[in-house]
Amino acid sequence: MLKFAQTCDAIAATTKKLEKTALVTDLLKVTPLDDAATAAIFLSGRPFPAYEEATLQVGGALLWRVIEDLSGKTEEELSQIYRRHGDIGSVAAEALPAKSESGLSLAEVRRVFSQIAAVRGPAAKAALLRAILERATPLEAKYIVKIISGDLRIGLKESLVEDAIARAFEAPLAAVKRANMLLGDIGETLRLAAEGKLAEAKLRLFHAIDFMLASPVESADEALSYFHNPAVEDKYDGIRAQVHVGKGEVRIFSRTRDDITDSFPELPAALATLPNDAILDGEIIAWSPASAPSTQDRALPFSKLQQRLGRKKVTPKLMHDIPVAYLIFDVLYADGEMLLDRPLSERTNILNTLLTSITNHVAVQTLSSQAHFGFALPEPAPATVLRAPVATANSADEIEALFTAARERGNEGLMIKDLDSLYTPGRRGKSWLKMKRELATLDVVVTAVEYGHGKRIGVLSDYTFAVWNGEALVNIGKAYSGLTDSEIAEMTQWFLAHTISDQGLRLEVEPKIVLEVAFNNMMRSTRHESGYALRFPRIVRLRPDKLPQDADTIDTVKKIYAKEHAV
Ligand code: AMP
Repeated sequence: MLKFAQTCDAIAATTKKLEKTALVTDLLKVTPLDDAATAAIFLSGRPFPAYEEATLQVGGALLWRVIEDLSGKTEEELSQIYRRHGDIGSVAAEALPAKSESGLSLAEVRRVFSQIAAVRGPAAKAALLRAILERATPLEAKYIVKIISGDLRIGLKESLVEDAIARAFEAPLAAVKRANMLLGDIGETLRLAAEGKLAEAKLRLFHAIDFMLASPVESADEALSYFHNPAVEDKYDGIRAQVHVGKGEVRIFSRTRDDITDSFPELPAALATLPNDAILDGEIIAWSPASAPSTQDRALPFSKLQQRLGRKKVTPKLMHDIPVAYLIFDVLYADGEMLLDRPLSERTNILNTLLTSITNHVAVQTLSSQAHFGFALPEPAPATVLRAPVATANSADEIEALFTAARERGNEGLMIKDLDSLYTPGRRGKSWLKMKRELATLDVVVTAVEYGHGKRIGVLSDYTFAVWNGEALVNIGKAYSGLTDSEIAEMTQWFLAHTISDQGLRLEVEPKIVLEVAFNNMMRSTRHESGYALRFPRIVRLRPDKLPQDADTIDTVKKIYAKEHAV
């Protein structure tokens, strides 16, 4: 563990990517295989491989308490150290008592992480955490704490770890990346690289893989500048869901690769009739089934679906009041074959064939004169499963017409997809484009919160938020909540449990919560460290489906500013 921590410090000390990669390469080369695999996982900032569902459930407040306890320092002394470093791992390094050696191994740390994940309740977790931090040297503690908080902050992306594995074991980088993408386990990837078996990496049913992402476009013309003859679908305002079906079992994974099957108890039954092993990509939306033959089924806004999300128990009443539909638009694996490397046009055909075999019923939905297919389960169905209708468009005018129609149906806009493109997990390329509402919004990360006034006294309702500038979050604005009272109450609880430093009225909080904010326009300003400020910022909604790293960057801010101020 000591060598690992020393290497992390050395990596943090250089800004040069090549030097960082060389340091990781050397570490992986000299470390025995099992430990090297663990080091690779830790270096990517995780306590467990990405695909594993285990989570530590150790928040900043708990870490803070244990460090306070072990160091004997006061809250104020620790806050001062925190303000100097802005990182709780560095607080541990500075505050904990010196020790020359611990003999702690990477395997032990990994074992303790598993134990922490397995026990329930903060007291039991704190006891395990305390025991390991008590043994660790301050430098080791620094990185144990950083891994627990999910961010090493040494300027090391997972892609650099992949690069180092390729170098350490003389394997092609593309093969390393591919194996890691399929397995969701950089440790196992390292093992295969060491054994020269990267080609054996297989996509595993019931282990979510990253989703393909889309880039924003401002206009139909811009979309057509990237490719011609696109597939065009409505952009539904729900949550992205990857469905794995096999051997009579169905599991649903969110964009953050969490298993969300329990949130949609009615969906597995509707999907279990698929005959083959399959991995599907689509969107779960709140759905208003047609009440009479003359009326149309339609997707409801996200706010409706949100009423179901985050509920511990989904009651039959909730399922009845807010029905859902799964709109499928892609297939990643079917009938034993991985389809990521097939162009969208082929995947579309495979998906259509697959869905015709949903038992009993096939209904064709018409989107427009260019529409293709839609398949629905019989009514009354416990949940609706549909093939998202696809249209083709050859001109900007056709795309604009589809956009207007999508908006009239209550959807967010369009997804415009290159029929020749392969499925590239985790990448935001120009093969999938999203054309959304006219007004720009930003996805931002909450960095600090304040108690409100008037009827909001006693609840944390004023949020300071930031966008990414490289590895750092830079504040760009502050909004008084546009959230509902119950959301604010829930967020208040969360923020109190994840406070990094308490400055009385204002709390600095762990940068984990993503919000979508709207605003009237953008100005240059020295008020916030980003150099920009938003006029009339308001919170559109919480984005629990997004990770902090999915938030927008300063480049997007600059782009919006340039567009608004173009003469
Ligand atoms: P955004 O969340 O603004 O980055 O937009 C991308 C998201 O749109 C995806 O991650 C999906 O959750 C969602 N989406 C809605 N409809 C579609 C569709 N037809 N194809 C792909 N993604 C869609």
